[in-house]
Order: sequence, then structure tokens, then C-alpha cells
Amino acid sequence: MPDAPRLRSPDGLAAPPEAGFVLRTLEDAGHSAWVVGGWVRDSLLGRPVHDVDVATSARWEDGARALRAAGIPVVETGTAHGTVTAVVGGVPVEVTTYRVDGAYSDARHPDAVRFVDSVDDDLARRDLTVNAMAWHPERGLRDPFGGRDDLARGLVRAVGDPDARMAEDALRVLRAVRFSARLGFSVEPATQAAVDAHAPGLRHVSRERIGSELRALLATGRGGGALRTQRPALFCAVPELAAMDGFPQRTPYHSMDVLGHVARVMDYVEVYTGGTATEHLRWAALLHDVGKPDRLTYGPEDTAHFFGHPARSRDIAREVMARLAVPRAVAVPALALVRLHDRPVADDDRSVTSILRDLDRLAPAMAPGLFFELMALKRADAAGKAPAYRGYAVEVDALEARGRALLTAGVPLRPSDLAVSGADVMGALGLPPGPAVGRALRAALDAVHRGEVGPGRDELLRWIEEHGDDSSVCGKP
Ligand code: ATP
Ligand code: MG
Repeated sequence: MPDAPRLRSPDGLAAPPEAGFVLRTLEDAGHSAWVVGGWVRDSLLGRPVHDVDVATSARWEDGARALRAAGIPVVETGTAHGTVTAVVGGVPVEVTTYRVDGAYSDARHPDAVRFVDSVDDDLARRDLTVNAMAWHPERGLRDPFGGRDDLARGLVRAVGDPDARMAEDALRVLRAVRFSARLGFSVEPATQAAVDAHAPGLRHVSRERIGSELRALLATGRGGGALRTQRPALFCAVPELAAMDGFPQRTPYHSMDVLGHVARVMDYVEVYTGGTATEHLRWAALLHDVGKPDRLTYGPEDTAHFFGHPARSRDIAREVMARLAVPRAVAVPALALVRLHDRPVADDDRSVTSILRDLDRLAPAMAPGLFFELMALKRADAAGKAPAYRGYAVEVDALEARGRALLTAGVPLRPSDLAVSGADVMGALGLPPGPAVGRALRAALDAVHRGEVGPGRDELLRWIEEHGDDSSVCGKP
């Protein structure tokens, strides 16, 4: 990387050397440039920063020319919106021309932009005061909308007139919710009123933008709190959630409506994973009971039952996640967790193995890790119930220990995990290749799970010689 001093400003913030180099290069070429957006916000909060964005008066062609002349590779990542990416010593720095925006229809870029000369105009088009600050190693903080005070007070506030800003781009409704969750801030009352009033505008926002904002909201680990306090926004983003609100659960197991229970389960999933829950576990917590309102029946004495709700929840969750373009790598394990969250598991090897097999079937190759996440979800589900039923959370410990022991011992979950192969079966039974070979292997796997035969190769071969013919002749389909 080119030689660049680590510049410090009067605020005590230190520019990452890559950004310092970009700023100096642009300014040496006669442009003005500032560090903007998330880096400024997170640095002032003393939080970890993940990338650094620069805004400049230079039109992108001029900025790119100056950077390339200084030996910096430049990638033309979004020139229609004035953005190029400078790669300084391997570190990408986004450089965007000062601009004001037209309407947005994708996740990050407005449809039309107008380039402007003043950084203050650029800051004015940003969504929240805490996101609308610029910083320079020598000139310090530029903060025309009081973002620093709002950081100190813990407030999420729209830049300018909240009503107008949410009307321009309804995604800002969800961005306000997301930043309030992420920073643990409250939403300033006029901004909150605009968030609620413009939530229905989310209907006109692309489902991919909504999906990526919701993924970012879940990534804060504070989705439970958002579900309690930001219902209009979240119900407009995911209308399926609304049916859970106020839906009573007249069963001895529950003391809250479905939505209140779900919010608690989301909280507890964080508690039981030390705040490091995976994205699929968070989606599963959010959607595990979304099918309950569709599955209400009443038993004796007016007790509510929700038979079949895990499958219904899985079906709804599948639709929601597909609509929001949640990647399959997240959706598949999330749906497996939703489907199995309420499955009774007994504290014996067969029952725990059976859940491991089902996980492997629903989310191939993910069963070992998912098992522990299913246990976290079951604990959280229990902890979200009426006080008398929370004790199950402790019983899950025994199931988890048993599952760990089984996984450590290498419990076979599918025929290909067995210590014998199809070729062994053909040799032992004198069979030609064909479906009978697979049947014999599946029968052997079942026998291992019943505890009828151990997993060792010799034992298995003996068992197959003895029983394999039965299964291949009588062959269960
Ligand atoms: P993160 O750490 O999540 O990336 P960030 O502040 O960098 O936080 P981005 O979504 O990357 O957030 O956006 C970068 C900046 O662009 C924001 O800080 C904000 O100033 C501005 N911005 C992004 N989206 C919008 C929007 N829809 N309306 C107005 N300003 C926006
Ligand atoms: Mg960012």
C-alpha cells in the first residue's frame, strides 16, 4: 500500500490509512473529499467499523483519473450513481460523487441522481441524522443535522421533515427500525409517527430491498424488541406476521398472545447463543409459530390446540423467505428448524437419532450444527411459555448431551455413513446392482438405530448376511 500517515483529527478519530490516502489524493488533485456515513457514526460510538466510504466533489471520471495516477486500481462499481471503488493496498474504499437522489427501487441505488458540489447537500439526502455526518482528518466533523447529539442521546431521527423523507422512500421506514435495533436507540417521536404512517408505503418497495433490510434487522440480534415496538412497520414488511398479533393462546402452556411469545423466543434465542445466533436460527425464531393462527382447534374445556402448526408455519415461512429473496443457504436450515421445533424428543438414543436423521433429511449435511440450534430453539420456546412450563428448557440439556455423544461417536445418519458399502452388500448377499442393495443398506441403518447391531463393519456384515435377504426379498418400498 502507498505510504500514508495515520491521520488523527481533533475528535480523536483516526482515519484508516486507506481512506486517508484516498482523501489526500483527491484533494491534491483539487477536489474536496470527506469520510461519510456508517464509518463516522460507528467510530464516534467507538464501535467496530467494517468499511469506509468517501464522498467527493470530483465527478467519478475525474476522481478515478486522480486515483489511478497515484497508482491506485479503481473499479467502476456504480458509475451511474457516481460510485467507484478504489482498492488501496487490497482494501476497497467506495468513492461517491456528492449527489442528491431521485426515487429508489433497488437496495442501494436511487434510480436517478443529480451530482452536486457541496458536501452539505449530499448529507441532506441521507436518511437519519446519525448517518448524515461527514468527517475529515484535518477539518474534523461536519454535522449539519445534529447527528452527534442524537448519538449521545440515543435517538434515531430523520434528516429534515420525517414525513417527507419516509414518503420519498418507504424503505427508510425499515432502515429507521433497523438502526434503532442495531444501536439500541429509541426513535424520536415525530420520526416514529412518520415510520408508522408510511409503513404501508412498503407495498411499493421491491421485495428484495425489504428482504435485505429485514435480514439486516435480524442480524442485530434485537428482532424481538423490534417485533414488540415496531408492529406497523414489520406487519407491512411481512403481512403474515400480523395474524399472530393479539391471537390468544388459551392453553395452560402459554401466558401471552402468539406474537408476544414469538418476541420472547427471539430474545431467548440470543440469550442461549450468547448473542451469536445464526441468521437461519433467527428466521426460525421469528417464523416458528406463524402458522398457529391457521391451526386453532378447541378441545375439552375450551382448551386451544394448534395441531399441525409446525408444518403450516414451515409452509408460510417458505413463502415469506422466497418472496423476500432470502438465500436458500439460509432458508433451508431455517425451514428445517421451524418444521422440527415442536417435535417431542425423548431422552433415549433412538429418539435423538431420529431427530438427527430428520434434520439431515430436511437440511442435507447440516444436521450436526443444526441439532444444537434446534436445542437452542427448543429451550427458547420453553422459556417463552407460561412460568409452569419453562422447566422444559432444562430438560433440553439432557437431549443436547445425548445428541453430542451420538455425534461424537459418529452415529450414521444415512446409508452412505455406514461402515459398509453397496459393494460389500453385493458381495455378502451375492446380489447384482439394483434397488435391493439400497434396501439392505437402509435396513442395516435402521437396525443400528434400534440398537440391534453395532456400527462396526464386521458386525454389520454379519447382520446383513443374516437379514439382508429378508429385506431384499420382501423388500419394503
Ligand atoms: P452499515 O454499517 O449497515 O453498512 P451504513 O450507514 O453504511 O451502515 P448503508 O446502508 O451502507 O448504511 O448506507 C450508507 C449510507 O448511505 C447511510 O449511512 C446513509 O447515509 C445513506 N443511505 C443509504 N440508504 C439510504 C436511503 N434509502 N435513504 C437515504 N439515505 C440512505
Ligand atoms: Mg455501509
